[in-house]
Amino acid sequence: ALDQTPDISKPRYVRVNTLKIGVDTALLELQKQYKVQKDDLVPDLLILPPGSDLHDHPLMINGSVFMQGKASSMVAAALAPKPGWEVLDACSAPGNKTVHLAALMGGKGNIIACELNEERLKRLKETIRLSGASNIKVLHGDFLELNPEDPSYSKIHAILLDPSCSGSGTASARLDHLLPSSAPGRTADFTETERLNKLAAFQKKALAHALSFPEVERIVYSTCSINQIENEDVVKSVLPLAATCGFELGTPFPKWQRRGLPVFEGAERLLRTDPVEDKEGFFIALFVRRGSGNESVK
Ligand code: SAM
Repeated sequence: ALDQTPDISKPRYVRVNTLKIGVDTALLELQKQYKVQKDDLVPDLLILPPGSDLHDHPLMINGSVFMQGKASSMVAAALAPKPGWEVLDACSAPGNKTVHLAALMGGKGNIIACELNEERLKRLKETIRLSGASNIKVLHGDFLELNPEDPSYSKIHAILLDPSCSGSGTASARLDHLLPSSAPGRTADFTETERLNKLAAFQKKALAHALSFPEVERIVYSTCSINQIENEDVVKSVLPLAATCGFELGTPFPKWQRRGLPVFEGAERLLRTDPVEDKEGFFIALFVRRGSGNESVK
């Protein structure tokens, strides 16, 4: 059997659900048991010592804090939705980033959480229930089928697009090569390259679709993949369309050192995290509409 024990050599991160509890209150509460620090980049993120097990902690059970890695917590923070905005989470289950958006918006405004997979919808609804957010509407459907001109979507200010990806930046995917080829999720005739090409084709389509919503001012595209084909190449493929629609690349977390692979001019604005050093390999791209007043970045 594969060793699935969590990596205890790295700090544990918890995101404070500010819909339920303040960051300082959560900090004080957790400090009764653990040595806790605030993260220096993500304001609602706390760092606990390696090996801390919070699963049974009352703050976890009542949805006041969520176990969420730093890289994952940077995604909604990069979108920086304003309270009162209409926001679309295009590929939302299990909903970690959806409820982070709700917290960042202080419960004000509306979030549409779109999810295609019926099974995963249950997890999404459970995450939303636990978070206490009351302004999230769950939409069971295909993001690619949403009509940007439909009055329900034409006023959307921001889109978070965290589509299906290879997951090659996550610990479970790094163990994946140890699986026999007959294991679930593996078929002998479906090679890794074919799988990546298929994912990348969907990712490009989804990002192009996000760019077509008329009132959108900010879009974040993210993956938990380390593959250029799912990251920089996807962004590069939509740059002409983005320019036509008046978007440019923003620089999420300018102080963060690790940036996009230098495969096109401007790729230094993209953000990468390293699967080993930063615990998870994530990729974040931010598109900002020129003249929207949202050019300023964190
Ligand atoms: N953002 C989520 C979170 O942080 O909890 C994780 C999202 S996961 C990487 C991608 C999700 O997109 C999956 O749940 C998948 O079922 C869903 N999905 C895939 N294709 C979709 C589509 N065309 N429309 C809507 N959802 C889709």
